[in-house]
Amino acid sequence: MIKIALAGNPNSGKTTLFNALTGSTAHVGNWPGVTVDKREGTYKKGSVPIGVVDLPGIYSLSPYTPEEMIARTYLLEETPDCIVNIVDVTNLERNLYLTTQLLELDVPVVVALNMTDVLKKRGDFVDAEKLAKELGVPVLPISALREEGIRELMQAVYKASQKKRAGTSVLAESSLSHLIGDVTIALRGKGVEHPLFHAVKLAEGDEPEVKAHPQEMQTVEAFKKQCTDDFEGDFEALIADARYRYITAHFSAAQRAQSGKKQTGSDRADRILTHRIWGIPIFLVVLFAIFHFTFGEDFLYLNAMFKIGFDVETGNDILNSFVAVFFSSAGVSSPGVILFNLMDFVCSLAGDGIANGVSAAGAAAWAQGLINEGIWGGVAGVLSFIPQILFLFLLLSILEDSGYMARVAFISDRAFRKFGLSGRAFIPMIMGFGCSVPAVINTRTLADEKERTMTNRVIPFFTCGAKAPILAAVCGAIASRYAGVNADLLVFALYLFGMAMAVLTVALMHQTTMKGEVAPFIMELPSYHLPQLRSLMVHLWDKLKHYVKKAFTIIVASSVVIWFLSNFAWNWQMVPIQESILYDIGAFVQWLCTPMGFGSQLGRFGWVFVVAAVTGLIAKENVISTFYVLAPAIGALIPGWDDGESGIGPVVALMEATGITWQALIAFTVFNMLTIPCFAAAATVRGETPKGKFRYTLAFWMLTSYLTATAVYVVLSWWWTVFILLALIALFVALLVLRGRRAACRCGRCGAKN
Ligand code: GDP
Ligand code: MG
Repeated sequence: MIKIALAGNPNSGKTTLFNALTGSTAHVGNWPGVTVDKREGTYKKGSVPIGVVDLPGIYSLSPYTPEEMIARTYLLEETPDCIVNIVDVTNLERNLYLTTQLLELDVPVVVALNMTDVLKKRGDFVDAEKLAKELGVPVLPISALREEGIRELMQAVYKASQKKRAGTSVLAESSLSHLIGDVTIALRGKGVEHPLFHAVKLAEGDEPEVKAHPQEMQTVEAFKKQCTDDFEGDFEALIADARYRYITAHFSAAQRAQSGKKQTGSDRADRILTHRIWGIPIFLVVLFAIFHFTFGEDFLYLNAMFKIGFDVETGNDILNSFVAVFFSSAGVSSPGVILFNLMDFVCSLAGDGIANGVSAAGAAAWAQGLINEGIWGGVAGVLSFIPQILFLFLLLSILEDSGYMARVAFISDRAFRKFGLSGRAFIPMIMGFGCSVPAVINTRTLADEKERTMTNRVIPFFTCGAKAPILAAVCGAIASRYAGVNADLLVFALYLFGMAMAVLTVALMHQTTMKGEVAPFIMELPSYHLPQLRSLMVHLWDKLKHYVKKAFTIIVASSVVIWFLSNFAWNWQMVPIQESILYDIGAFVQWLCTPMGFGSQLGRFGWVFVVAAVTGLIAKENVISTFYVLAPAIGALIPGWDDGESGIGPVVALMEATGITWQALIAFTVFNMLTIPCFAAAATVRGETPKGKFRYTLAFWMLTSYLTATAVYVVLSWWWTVFILLALIALFVALLVLRGRRAACRCGRCGAKN
């Protein structure tokens, strides 16, 4: 089968084209670095099937980051039959820089001029024929998004793939042309593939090349000695300069822009959205709006209306529960809460149905318990949150796809550079709101190893979709028990707290174990566009599949284990929960959590929180499903308990049963947010961490979560302890500064006498 590779700058539309060609649904994001691994599919609409590989975005073939390495290695070692170079026409000159390098390979190249729809809208024009003539390869205008020009492109690709092509270089006009010619001939004589490409890279002094061809490097060195030009032998700079010169000289004519560029809508929006001072406050407001839409119980505050007597209390239970889906005593619920209530309603109906079915079938008591509480209880706990969390994702995806999230990375760069973070690192962190696993993979786009490690450690602090139900359940329970507390505000505050912890711990690492320069952050801002319904739906569908799959595999399995341990004694007899295996284990480790407020002070069932946190290490949804599995048994032991049928959720049930304070519940949530993430995320971080360093990351997570949750519990419970905390922090900072001074004195930089 013919195999073609899609290569181009980040954000030029490769993945969009890949999806259009192969009908697949790979993630498309309106910021650079969404595809960090190669991906394969097949184009079937032509005369013959063609294999298509989507490569990570690259600016050049001189790799600095692991993802650039993936692209280069693929192109050189698995030589495709044709390279399709996606060029973003709205950034023609910068994109052609990579094109000039791809042309040096001995592989057929076809250039796809993407985003022509944007160009047309602006009234600009790019002369494809002129470009084709200059470059010596076919150039076809397309719009990957609108799927225009795809068929013609693939016809040209097929035709090109049937012929051989020898590399060409725009450097033929530069002062290095003789050197490159000589080295090419030498390499070709040795049977090296892509001799021209290697010759150019060798002249640039590209590290892997110098190692691979020491003999030819001597020719380069000799040439360098007799070279007298402005670049003082810095051939890398000379070559880059030559490429750009060529591009401006030959292609500016192909691009006829409207004279006197007028300010676009994007520019005007950016003047406000990326404002030096207002940028971050605006982001916080936008974020709060999202949380209000998703978690607000009193989305529209109509308390007065209810007081007047709008409160519907009919004798009909079903009708009452139905009304409760849309209204709370405070007003109209937010769309997210309505979705949650609906799903919760459906789940409880389904649960009743299952329970009736099982008992009608005459199942044994243990089997009924296993099915109703062990299996359905755990699954329902996760399922009931799915619509609400998907709604949160929908809103976040709209921000991402519109191009706004890229601006957030940009404004955070300006603000957080001092703390040792570049805005580039914020992109994977913000992706962490979805799931830590792809976010951690995305850190391959960071050039610096230390920055990668630091980023990977704090990505889990950006509350992911699996932790969101914990926040929603805990904050909802607190709001329902304490008047004047808003669930949405509380959820929002916890999200912000996680982000703040990420920044603070990075700053701390940057000052201590991870010293280093912050890499410069260069990113062109993608233009805003209306979010595409299709790509949003694809995104949500992926998430939904992921959740449902997890609910019916990992969550069911863990719930069954928890149910078993909480219903059986060490002698395999079925017993009440207070004699169970889980009770013994829980009571044994409970004291560990005393400083965080959910340990020994909670009495005999306080261990549910420890157990939930431990099951959360497998998957964070387990924290909630464990509550759902255990709440009925524990609630039943409380005098006056009406077995949770009154619409009181499992978290409230456990609050009543254990007497846990809201302060301790918040500490519990913070602990879960900051501790070792789920198994999948931890394994991914391990894979992306240099050998032997992962144990430090584990220690970092454990220490940070334990200490922070303790501080949160103590300060919230006894407000004056905040002064002790501040004093401790001040002492710690002072010690750090002193240590820094000492180190500086030894090196003599500060001029102090030792
Ligand atoms: P990649 O990084 O090269 O894989 O780029 P993506 O495929 O992820 O696309 C980056 C952004 O450009 C996304 O927001 C796409 O929706 C958008 N995009 C891709 N192709 C086109 C196009 O032809 N026209 C317009 N207007 N936008 C496009
Ligand atoms: Mg991509």
